[in-house]
Parts: sequence; structure tokens; C-alpha cells
Amino acid sequence: MSTSSAPTGSAAINSVRLNSHLTTLGQIGRDEFGMQRVAFSRHDVDGRDYVSGLMRAAGMSVRIDPAGNIIGRSEGSDPSLPAIVLGSHTDTVPSGGQYDGALGVIAAIEVVEALRDGGQTPRHPVEVMVFTNEEGTSFHRWLLGSRAVAGLWEAEDFAAVADDGVTLTDTLPDIGGNISRIADARRRPEELACYLELHIEQGPTLHRGGFPIGVVTGITGRSVYHVDIVGEANHAGTTPMSLRRDAMSAAAQIALAVRRIAGEMEVCRVGTVGSMDVHPNAGNVIPGRVQMGVEFRDERMESLSAAEVELRRTAEEVAHAENVNITVTAQRNTPSVPISNNMQQLIADAAGMAGLEQVSLPSGAGHDAQAIAAITPAAMVFVPSVNGISHAPAEYSAPEDCANGAQVLLNALLLADGR
Ligand SMILES: [Zn+2]
Repeated sequence: MSTSSAPTGSAAINSVRLNSHLTTLGQIGRDEFGMQRVAFSRHDVDGRDYVSGLMRAAGMSVRIDPAGNIIGRSEGSDPSLPAIVLGSHTDTVPSGGQYDGALGVIAAIEVVEALRDGGQTPRHPVEVMVFTNEEGTSFHRWLLGSRAVAGLWEAEDFAAVADDGVTLTDTLPDIGGNISRIADARRRPEELACYLELHIEQGPTLHRGGFPIGVVTGITGRSVYHVDIVGEANHAGTTPMSLRRDAMSAAAQIALAVRRIAGEMEVCRVGTVGSMDVHPNAGNVIPGRVQMGVEFRDERMESLSAAEVELRRTAEEVAHAENVNITVTAQRNTPSVPISNNMQQLIADAAGMAGLEQVSLPSGAGHDAQAIAAITPAAMVFVPSVNGISHAPAEYSAPEDCANGAQVLLNALLLADGR
């Protein structure tokens, strides 16, 4: 039994078991280009089957909710208490890495096993949630499972269609879900005590600074824009420079401006032009039209607004100078999600219990925690990503760091259980 104060000398993570499960999951859907467990794929289903088996072996009851989330549950000693939830995802981006999401899920299951090894039953029930399609590679709808749990589905989720024309409605049953009952996936705040997620940092701060543990202060906001530049396609050999309406020349200036807005000007934390469609995309034709995807990310919403103002101002200037038409359309505005001081302190205390140095940092990537934070207090623990590499096969976190993160997750659960 845990006590109401710091449960020192309590359950310990089995690092060998944790890392062995992580390695086994890392073999499922791996090819020479990386991890291929894109949500709803055969490999994703294999990965889900593996972690479901681990949950059962750890003594948990396992169910699939209508969003296809896998929910393992271990009862607490006090049936009147709400559940402490640990979660993450096992889907990957195409050619992704072994640790993104997977660590949080495997560590959550290890926490339950470690408690059982130590003969320790928390007062609260513990639920491990494996969320469907966190990455959003399939159906272009991300955080699909966690947003269903938080009751945050949008009309576009219900109508989602994959690139191959298959609907989400027809696909969800493949993993045990049912879109017509999606409302039943929603959890009421009174059913949950809090949500804790361990994740790799996916950035360089911890690795560079030599910190084993990161306490996440908030999850970044993100604004996405579609920029449509219309000039005039014409002969690349006969059209004088002064008469051109070159959409590519304008696009290049906007791409550099996005870099400058986040970089030199420091209006927001990061800015990226990640996609560009060039028409007609022929070497001997002046591009008549370029469509580009722009995104900005920051933890402060006012910084994102300021970046948008700069982007629109630049677009006007460039349109005038290049004699093209530029339309900037705001596509998505994902608000930043702050983590409360209380929940940050919980993670800092949990790291302290394990004797691990920690540093506070924002999350530059999105996570299931940002959806679940809408219905229950959420916290996140980060561990170092070597060289900050993620969403790539070179993604790596050392076994010791993974075990440290899992121990902090376990300690945080025990501290929350004692409150
Ligand atoms: Zn992830």
C-alpha cells in the first residue's frame, strides 16, 4: 500500500524487461527504412496485439473502446476512486523510429508489472491507454483516439477518408472500433484522477544539456497556413525577366521570410515551409502557380498571432514586387496546452525521488496528452533523444534513459495515488 507521503523504497522498474519489450515492439513493422506501423495497417494491428498481450500478462483487463483505443485496467484498493491514466501510442509515421509513442506505452505497462512485482496495489485504479492514430498519417486526422476520449471529435473526423478512398467509418471496425458509437469512447472527468505520459523528447535539449529527465511545461500551439501564389506560366527562354510573373520567385521569398520570422526576428519559436506544389513543374516553363504549406509553432498564442501578421504582410509585399496574386488561408490553429504548476511539480518530485536531475522545457511536438488535458489534469515526462532525432529510423533513446523515464512515471503515479 502506498502512503500519503513520498513512497520511498517502493516499487522499482525492471529495466531489462522494459527494454526487452521495447526492442520486441521495435521489431514489429520494421523494414530497412524504419518503423512502418502506420495506424490501421497490418503492422499496426500486430503491434496492438503485442501490447494487448503484455497488458493481459501484467494482470490487466483489456478492452477496445469505440475509437479503437486499447484500454488496460488494473483495479485499485479503493473502488470509489477515479483512475490514474498512463498512456501514449504505438502507431508510427512512415519510416519512423522505435521510441516515439512506444516508450510511453511499454513503460506504462512496466509500471503496472513493477507494482505487481512489489506486491503494491495503488488506491486508485490504473488504466493504460494506447491511443489510435496519434500521428494522423492515416486519414490526415491526428490524435484520433485521444480526442475521442476527450470528446473532441470534429465533423471532419466523422467524414474522414483515406488517400485510397476508404472511409474511417469502414476502417475503425478493423481494430475493434465503431464510429456510430464514438460518443461512448468519451470519458467523464469524474472517472479520471489524472493523466501521465512518458515520451521521448524528439528534440535536442535534454541530450545536449546532459539532463536525464525533462518536466514538460506545456505543449506547443501550432498554426498552419495554405499559401496560394498565382502568376503566369510562360516560356522560360523567350520571356524577359522584367515581364515575368514568376510564382516560384515569390514562393522562394516567402519561404525565406518564414525562416526569418522565427529565426532572426524571433517572432515565434519555429516556422517551416514543409510542402510546395509547383505548376506545371517543368524545367522550361516559368511556374504559373505555387501552393505551399506554412506552419508556425509556439507555446504562446500571441506569438503565433504575431507570426501570422508578419506572414500576411510579407505576402502583400512580395505579391506587389513580383506582380503575382497571393492568398494566405489559415487552415488549422491548434491552441497550446499549458501543464499546471501542480502537475509539473508532481513530475519534478517524482524525478527527485529517483535521484534524477531534471529540467523544465516545452514540448515542440504534439501529443495525446494535449487532448486528454481537456478532461483531466495532465503531465508529461521527457527523456533524451540522442542528437534530437525523431520521426526517423535513427531515433534512439538509451536503455538507461528509458528506464529512468519509466521510474519517474511510476514514482509520479505513486505520488498522485497518495494525494
Ligand atoms: Zn509520439
